[in-house]
Amino acid sequence: MDSTKDLIIVGGGPAGYSAALYAARASLDVLVVEHGMAGGQIATSDIIDNYPGLGSCSGAELGQKMQEHAEHAGAQSTYGSVSSIDRKDDMFIVNTDMEQLEAPALIVATGATPRLGGFVGEDEFRGRGVSYCATCDGMFYRGKHVFIIGGGNSAVEEAMYLSNIAEHVELVVRRDVFRAPRGMVERLLTRDNITIRYQTSIIEVSGSTFINRIVLRDNATGETHAEMFDEGSVGIFVAVGHDPATQIVAPYVDLGSDGGVVTDESMATKTPGLFCAGDMRSKSLRQVITAAADGAIAAMSAYAYLEESGRI
Ligand code: NAP
Repeated sequence: MDSTKDLIIVGGGPAGYSAALYAARASLDVLVVEHGMAGGQIATSDIIDNYPGLGSCSGAELGQKMQEHAEHAGAQSTYGSVSSIDRKDDMFIVNTDMEQLEAPALIVATGATPRLGGFVGEDEFRGRGVSYCATCDGMFYRGKHVFIIGGGNSAVEEAMYLSNIAEHVELVVRRDVFRAPRGMVERLLTRDNITIRYQTSIIEVSGSTFINRIVLRDNATGETHAEMFDEGSVGIFVAVGHDPATQIVAPYVDLGSDGGVVTDESMATKTPGLFCAGDMRSKSLRQVITAAADGAIAAMSAYAYLEESGRI
């Protein structure tokens, strides 16, 4: 494969593959670099049911369809983890763990990464009772007791998913309100095996091979107490939000107060030829549909940039 392209897209989620589709349909020679499954974050979503016209579909399936659609239009994909981006003579040099690629225009759509819960023992028991993905690890908790930390969309979706697997699901919400919309919370309350602990935080976990002790704090009174479990019978799923993944573009962009990349409406950053799209941007609504829209706009802006600068 030629390592010089018209356009390189870093990230194969909804933003990246929507950009690839639009770029390929505009006859650009475009390559998507992705280090995991197509779909990015949605690949770990059990169900996507808010993408218009789609009905209900698994995130992994939607990610795969987006990739196939872009490739059918002429986009190429390559596996690689991008470590850095250099700028040389108006070209972007994209350094991956596999190869060096270059293009005069770049769209970065690296999404967002899960935040940590911040409790004692979290790192030590990661994969041994502490998880960040219900669709990935839920099966290990069939018939068991699980706690989910968080009160946003992700936490509610994880609770719904795990309620079909675990015997008992407890949602641990640090304030007295959810961040997730009311309709979603109401659906949650219809499940018999889900309970909610408001104004509560998990502050410590311990055990030997697996967790057997969880310390909880009542955030209204500050009181703490420990609960004991048989080892291996309990799990904690952390779903407390995501941080925009901006590391590789940091030298070339400005960041907003939410940690996302600041772009204008055309998805342009302060560096000519560099566009950002999807959840890594500073924005108010992070959804599949807004990521896909960002991707389409970024592709058309990259096309205009290449044309105006005489590169195509
Ligand atoms: P989020 O909306 O930012 O919610 C994070 C939740 O975790 C909040 O309830 C927050 O509490 C809580 N939290 C944060 N740090 C915590 C900590 N250290 N300990 C305990 N609780 C903590 O995050 P998200 O649910 O991952 O969603 C991220 C974005 O993706 C959002 O824009 C969301 O709308 C979108 N999303 C949408 C869907 C969908 O539409 N189906 C699905 C998933 C995600 P506070 O409220 O007190 O801050």
